[in-house]
Amino acid sequence: MTIPSVRGMKDILPPTSARWAALETAFREHATRFGFSEIRTPVLEKTELFARSVGETTDIVEKEMYTFSDRSGESLTMRPEGTAPVVRALQANRAALGEWPVRLFYVGPMFRHERPQKGRLRQFHQFGAELFGTDSPFADAEILTFLHGFLKETGLSGVFLEINSLGDPACRPAYHRKLSDFLSSREDRLCDDCRRRRERNPLRVLDCKAEGCMRATADAPSALDSLCDPCRAHFESVEGVLRDSGIPFTRNPRMVRGLDYYRRTAFEFVIPGMGAQNTVAAGGRYDGLAEILGGRERIPAIGFAIGVERFLMLLGEEEYRAPAPDVFLVTAGSRFLPEAFRWKMTLIGMGIRTEVDYDGRSVKGQFRRAGRAGARFVVVFGEEEAGRGGVTFRDMAAGVQEELSKDEAIRRLTRRDDTREE
Ligand code: ATP
Ligand code: MG
Repeated sequence: MTIPSVRGMKDILPPTSARWAALETAFREHATRFGFSEIRTPVLEKTELFARSVGETTDIVEKEMYTFSDRSGESLTMRPEGTAPVVRALQANRAALGEWPVRLFYVGPMFRHERPQKGRLRQFHQFGAELFGTDSPFADAEILTFLHGFLKETGLSGVFLEINSLGDPACRPAYHRKLSDFLSSREDRLCDDCRRRRERNPLRVLDCKAEGCMRATADAPSALDSLCDPCRAHFESVEGVLRDSGIPFTRNPRMVRGLDYYRRTAFEFVIPGMGAQNTVAAGGRYDGLAEILGGRERIPAIGFAIGVERFLMLLGEEEYRAPAPDVFLVTAGSRFLPEAFRWKMTLIGMGIRTEVDYDGRSVKGQFRRAGRAGARFVVVFGEEEAGRGGVTFRDMAAGVQEELSKDEAIRRLTRRDDTREE
């Protein structure tokens, strides 16, 4: 019996692994252009970090965290998201990170004990970016432009930006009360979870994916109608900059955050028709988080996270094919293997992808493999050629074959390499 992987945690195989690497490189470059620097925080954090920040009443803390006591009895949690760790690290290393604004991005695995399904895993990955130290609406617009640009650059089409404002401590309580009253009038139509949520965190009822709840709350009061003047002005400024920048968006007053520390701007990039897993990237402003984490300093902040698996799912899959060798070295008998092996290592050192059969297949069999693998050239080490100090050199595409000196063969391979179109 072999050992299966943990439920909801996947191996990332080629060629997907190569797509991951390429996507990460693209994200790093894009982030760097926008003046963001990478931060790498530990996968494990003290449970308290998420209990305080993500909020005891969210799905994540209520039922999705991988929490355990380590060998010294300390409660640790595998990070379910990247923002709280980044803020913790920022507070701990404030001086080292220089003047405001501070721009940080991250790339890495997150862990949530959810029911695995398409686009929903227990170990998944996020690219994220956070902009700290300014509450200007231009910061919100910068983050949205960054994200919009990245999604566009990677060729993802059909993504829509939805934005909302969640208000702030001045106007949110009144909206909560309004929403809560509305929800009590619909109580009998809500699911069990939402009946509980209604009191402690009514916003989350709007986020429930159950059909019944969605219908029952279709005409719920809108957060946008309850904004105080400063929050309204901020929201309208963000919309104005987006329009100026030619970034299309729609308002979605039902969009809320599962996380408690968000303020004002909330946004998602969604793909219609993807069911409940239709959000590729999500984010918002979270000016309240630093204080929740015990910092003396108020740190205005806005950021986003992209779900990498969902993103790749939307970009589409390809079937795996090992990279085609540039040259396949065919040996007429095992006595040529040591020389072919030396060639292989030399050529690889020169950046030329080289394949050799180690397993004693016939010359015909080796040619077949070279063809199947898509090799551009075949070099044959055979008795007769060896007698004359040469090798047979075949250009597979042209179907042309000739005998060359070894030096000339190497020259051809390396010269061809220079002109190879990538
Ligand atoms: P959802 O409503 O889909 O559960 P969420 O609100 O829990 O999402 P966030 O905490 O905002 O998600 O995380 C940002 C992004 O990370 C999501 O938009 C999604 O693309 C991705 N994501 C979240 N949870 C998972 C998961 N379990 N598996 C794969 N991707 C996920
Ligand atoms: Mg979730």
